[in-house]
Amino acid sequence: MEFSLTEEQRAMVETVRALCRDQFKGRAMKWMDGTFPWENIKELAELGVLGMAVPEEYGGLGLPVLDTALVLEELGKTCYVTAMAVMGEVGVQTKIIATYAPEEIKRRLLPGVCSGEVILAVCMTEPHAGTDVANFKTNVVVKGDRLVLKGTKTLISRVDEAKAFVVFTRVDGKPGREGIGCVLIENDTPGFEIISRYHTMGGENLAEIQFNDCELPVENLIVKEDGFRRLLNAFNTQRCLNPSISLGLAEGAFEEAVRYSRDREAFGRPIGTMQGMRWKLAEMYRDIEVGRSVLYRACATANPFPDPHMAAIAKLYNNEMAVRVTSEAIQVHGGYGFTDEFPVSRFYRGARYGSLGGGTHETLKDLVGKKIYNGFSDHDGFLGMGNF
Ligand SMILES: Cc1cc2nc3c(=O)[nH]c(=O)nc-3n(C[C@H](O)[C@H](O)[C@H](O)COP(=O)(O)OP(=O)(O)OC[C@H]3O[C@@H](n4cnc5c(N)ncnc54)[C@H](O)[C@@H]3O)c2cc1C
Repeated sequence: MEFSLTEEQRAMVETVRALCRDQFKGRAMKWMDGTFPWENIKELAELGVLGMAVPEEYGGLGLPVLDTALVLEELGKTCYVTAMAVMGEVGVQTKIIATYAPEEIKRRLLPGVCSGEVILAVCMTEPHAGTDVANFKTNVVVKGDRLVLKGTKTLISRVDEAKAFVVFTRVDGKPGREGIGCVLIENDTPGFEIISRYHTMGGENLAEIQFNDCELPVENLIVKEDGFRRLLNAFNTQRCLNPSISLGLAEGAFEEAVRYSRDREAFGRPIGTMQGMRWKLAEMYRDIEVGRSVLYRACATANPFPDPHMAAIAKLYNNEMAVRVTSEAIQVHGGYGFTDEFPVSRFYRGARYGSLGGGTHETLKDLVGKKIYNGFSDHDGFLGMGNF
């Protein structure tokens, strides 16, 4: 098995790490009130980071999921809000447009994604149904060469900044999961309305939006009904990106904890010399190493989309691990860890997001549990090695 990164991957990680250290670290608190990190986005666009998931013919780098995960991990080590904003540009919405949209839409939007001028949002969650996709009510009616979109979506990220929204919707009222497709709508479409806003414990803002009989060209129906299975492929990529941020948050908090354990003294010596503290740091380090292994494996074996079960396990483990490790980092800092004087409380708040977005843990455990019950096949990669 090959465990090393390529020269190019190392160079990219080093470049992003330096930017995070020199620029992003100092201003990370600035975004906690919901301010969008435009400064960071512009600097990342100059490095080409925003175009990582965009194919080369539309101005991007067309990199595999592992490269994207490595960059999100670096960003997560410093700034959750920036990492989340970047995931919006390299994640599921870009993947859906790059894979399924007509040529004209790709040419119109994707170069702007690379330059940081076009922010994209994805709209799945509805006020009465998030996990329960089969009960989505948003509907698009096809009327000749026009579409009419009606419905409400909630808890949506980057609504104030996004130019275009990838909306999961029922098509012509067809019921169930099979009736779901995907429409693209821009923020200046008549009938597009932001109806309420939420501020999260992670720092970013979310919003609820309404589509009041919005008229769109028929080309904007980028995935027709019965496309849900195809859309899930893009979500399996997202399920490797979300835990990359979790991993980064855990690493960022761990680095702070190690530093503090060397500086802080109790009973006349650094707390890091005490066995109770060393065990704590050793366990944090162990958990981070395990998390990185399962995540990189899920990414490195993607072809082109990650295996759903590997991605689920990478997400389950890293999301839970990040909450544990960031919480322990607060403990290492004692009472100061609970204040804004040290970044560990910010890491903890960000880590709590992981198990909520991109597939809740209850759903993912169901997915993996079902596979275990039904049995693995020879096509199930490393999971197929267990014959039980
Ligand atoms: C920071 C943040 C950013 C977000 N950004 C976006 C975005 O950009 N676009 C978007 O569409 N959404 C976004 N969301 C919403 C997110 O995707 C949903 O919160 C998530 O899908 C869960 O849906 P829900 O909140 O409606 O919970 P529900 O579906 O109501 O679930 C509530 C609880 O019940 C559990 N549950 C549900 N069904 C089962 C079951 N069968 N068995 C066991 N347990 C079950 C869930 O796991 C959960 O714990 C964001 C959320 C957050 C926190």
